[in-house]
Amino acid sequence: MTNAACAHIESIHSVKQPTRRECEECVKIHSHWVHLRTCQTCGVTLCCDSSPNRHASAHARAAHHPVVASAEQGERWLYCFPDDAFAEY
Ligand SMILES: [Zn+2]
Ligand SMILES: [Zn+2]
Ligand SMILES: [Zn+2]
Repeated sequence: MTNAACAHIESIHSVKQPTRRECEECVKIHSHWVHLRTCQTCGVTLCCDSSPNRHASAHARAAHHPVVASAEQGERWLYCFPDDAFAEY
């Protein structure tokens, strides 16, 4: 891990990868998304803040699951919502 920017990110030793390449919440409401993020606490994959529904950040606030990983192919980074911290892995 490089550039670990907060304690939440530092505590992640095994990065959860997406099990599905779709936003579970958008699928339920027949919406769409731009990019996908995987919650590092529970493993759910949800849409990014550039998406109309911003499900990943809503989940982070509601469930107090702070850190997501990019679920985009070839991207290897983590982001902590409450600390606005970013790290590559
Ligand atoms: Zn943090
Ligand atoms: Zn979504
Ligand atoms: Zn979660």
